[in-house]
Amino acid sequence: MDLNAYERHLVGLLCWTCHAATGPCNARQRQCPRCRKKWSYDRRRTQWEILKAFCLNATAHHAARCARCDYRTAYRAYMHLRLTLGEMTAEEKRPLLGELELDESYFGGKRKGKRGRGAAGKVAVFGILERDGKVYTVAVPNCKKETLMARITAATVKGSVFYTDEFVSYNDLSRYGKHVPIDHRHEFADGEAHINGIEGFWSYAKRLHRLCHGVDRDNFPVYLAEYEFRYNHRDDHLLTILFDRLYRPLIEKGRLP
Ligand SMILES: [Zn+2]
Repeated sequence: MDLNAYERHLVGLLCWTCHAATGPCNARQRQCPRCRKKWSYDRRRTQWEILKAFCLNATAHHAARCARCDYRTAYRAYMHLRLTLGEMTAEEKRPLLGELELDESYFGGKRKGKRGRGAAGKVAVFGILERDGKVYTVAVPNCKKETLMARITAATVKGSVFYTDEFVSYNDLSRYGKHVPIDHRHEFADGEAHINGIEGFWSYAKRLHRLCHGVDRDNFPVYLAEYEFRYNHRDDHLLTILFDRLYRPLIEKGRLP
């Protein structure tokens, strides 16, 4: 099915069960002439508009305006899409190996006051980027050596090459693989010895995060999994991925209203 056919199913011009062309039967509903099924045109259109807005990185407020629905409806749909991306992120997890870039960063919190390590009200995130591969992120309670080493041993293969900055928490890495610390004060990119890949992911994720105002601490991992999925699939068509995941099984079973 091409995207046009998706759209025509979603806005209700084609029947979800038998794919025949449909017609309006009253002001709010359409009906299939062949199998006599009815459904609400508005609800279908709302779902589709929200899905499109989400895939284009629009805010939930913008989605609500496009779909002409309540903000809370759009927000709830957005959270559902985020959880779906989180599920897919979890399904794709595999041990990382080869050349890995490791780094920590801080998200959210108040602008004022301390920045960087130990800043108040911010969530610490630890990230590992496999060069030419996937990124792995996890929100951590702190950046102590034990915390980070536990995440590293759980997510990577022993004997990999680890590029990090000179943060003391990485001092034990040489026991687990080849450790290449990079001193930012002297050189920035010395051949292969750099962590520009993971730095690129941080700026990508923070640009998305800036659009989501007032994310609370408990919901943060849901947003983080979304950024991770978007980054790992930045060359794929997100709309098709989400449509195939959420709606195609329902179409095939004929369960969509
Ligand atoms: Zn039908």
